Amino acid sequence: MQKTILSGVKPTGRPHIGNYFGAMRQFVELQNEYQSYFMIADYHALNLIQNAKEMRELSLDVAIDFLAIGLNPKKSIIFKQSDVPEHTELAWIFDTITTVPYLKRAHAYKDAMAKGGEEDVSAGTFTYPMLMAADILLYDTDVVPVGQDQKQHIEFARDTAEKFNRIFSGSTSLTTGEIFKLPEALIIKDVETVPGTDGRKMSKSYNNTIPLFASDEEIEKAVMSIVTDSKAEYPENVFYIHKLFRSVAELDKIYEENKGKYKVLKDILIEDLKNFIRPLRERREEIAKDLNFVQKVLAEGKERARAKASQKMIAVKRAIGVI
Ligand code: AMP
Repeated sequence: MQKTILSGVKPTGRPHIGNYFGAMRQFVELQNEYQSYFMIADYHALNLIQNAKEMRELSLDVAIDFLAIGLNPKKSIIFKQSDVPEHTELAWIFDTITTVPYLKRAHAYKDAMAKGGEEDVSAGTFTYPMLMAADILLYDTDVVPVGQDQKQHIEFARDTAEKFNRIFSGSTSLTTGEIFKLPEALIIKDVETVPGTDGRKMSKSYNNTIPLFASDEEIEKAVMSIVTDSKAEYPENVFYIHKLFRSVAELDKIYEENKGKYKVLKDILIEDLKNFIRPLRERREEIAKDLNFVQKVLAEGKERARAKASQKMIAVKRAIGVI
């Protein structure tokens, strides 16, 4: 039987090359082999984006991004999380079988606590892993292509599936066997954490990104801002980003020949980035001209995702005894 993948991107701002190499590029390759679901995770983003206009625009932007990188709506189901209410319905059920100490182990929660303290952490941020478990488990997902920062969330989804199965499977004559499949994370070692211009993980919240659809000027500005250590012979932070575009053997030669010449090395990276980004950006501009098409893709995605999710919820509801 054909295996299923699911992954999502939060509409919280422009995607960057870390999102692309860490996760989105894999989506494009895998859609040919797997039954594929790609979700615009708008309810996850709601923890951060609390403005209707922004939410609408950013969500549509992710749909355009998905199409621009090469997701094919004939092969892949592209949908908005909020269009399938079964996600939040199942998340509630998971909330009732999980515990507070377990959720306190989530890195995202710990980060939020470290930043602002308990007063500022929304209940939505706290229970986020259960919504994500619902996203994944509703579709009998086998594989979830993500970056390293999401690994723990996939483990939470697995634990939750196991726990639910243990408590409820076979609990009525109407349910036979296990309800949920245990998903696996697909994390590509070389690109599991793409570094940003300051050497930390590339992240929208660190302001250290190179946008995936950047203009030439933005590329120049971002590369020129890459932090370099003036004592080192070769600029590590430039090299790590450069590795996304050329082999290490090729780079070793270039960096050896240009020892200490940071400006030259940055210029080479700028050219590589421009050549890589230009066709993607142009494709995105074309797609953005036909928003009716993008809306149609989302409407179709909604129907197809709901068909699967609503069927799964019937099995879940039977298992817990509400129908
Ligand atoms: P998000 O924008 O948080 O929804 O992330 C979308 C996808 O990109 C997720 O699978 C993340 O794990 C992945 N991702 C985000 N930042 C990076 C990074 N710096 N390196 C590799 N993958 C990343």
